[in-house]
Amino acid sequence: MSVVTEAHGRVAEVFASLQGEGVTAGLPSVFIRLQGCSVGCVWCDTKYSWDPTKGEDRDLQNLLEEVTAISTGNVVVTGGEPLESPLFIPLVSALKTRGDRVEVETAGVLEPLDLPVDQWNVSLKLAHSGVPESRRIRPRAIRAFVARDAWFKFVVAQPGDVDEVIELQKRFALPRERILLMPEGIRSDELLERSRWVWEACQTHGFRYSPRLQILVWGPKRAT
Ligand code: SF4
Repeated sequence: MSVVTEAHGRVAEVFASLQGEGVTAGLPSVFIRLQGCSVGCVWCDTKYSWDPTKGEDRDLQNLLEEVTAISTGNVVVTGGEPLESPLFIPLVSALKTRGDRVEVETAGVLEPLDLPVDQWNVSLKLAHSGVPESRRIRPRAIRAFVARDAWFKFVVAQPGDVDEVIELQKRFALPRERILLMPEGIRSDELLERSRWVWEACQTHGFRYSPRLQILVWGPKRAT
């Protein structure tokens, strides 16, 4: 696989932290937040990453050098919606060529590419995202992620949201053991309160629970 180091694109931020969500919660990681997202969730906590003309224009070589300087071996490529970025393919290809473990956080609205991503974290959006269903539920993309053994992480804000998750699970034959429910919230008290019924729903339906460690520990501040 050739590494296209002359590639470039806009980046919102790069930082080292712990993975706060999903099946690798707690894992030391470098986060690369690619700029641009056209999904538009009402509760999005990274709205600064929406505009594809904002952020900083970075060339791939320079970006890789920064990641090397703070690398932990696990790299989380996130957004925005990273699959919309022109930097996505060359970045993932370059990271894998040099041996990094790569996770991708995506809304699952674009079909995954045939890239050697170690872990697809697909956060399909429910009705409470405020995004029309035609824009957030893309059957071809979802089936392609199922075929790539993706994890499906659902943000849930009220118990009724779990019914919607079950409908999607049945409609797309999502493997129950690869579904995670994560409480919505940007304050630790609301997260903990919602965690109680989310915990019970996970037990009832055979789903996993996902924390939001970054909110529990640090609150809503931007992680840079
Ligand atoms: S898909 Fe992600 S980045 Fe885009 S609006 Fe929704 S939560 Fe925000």
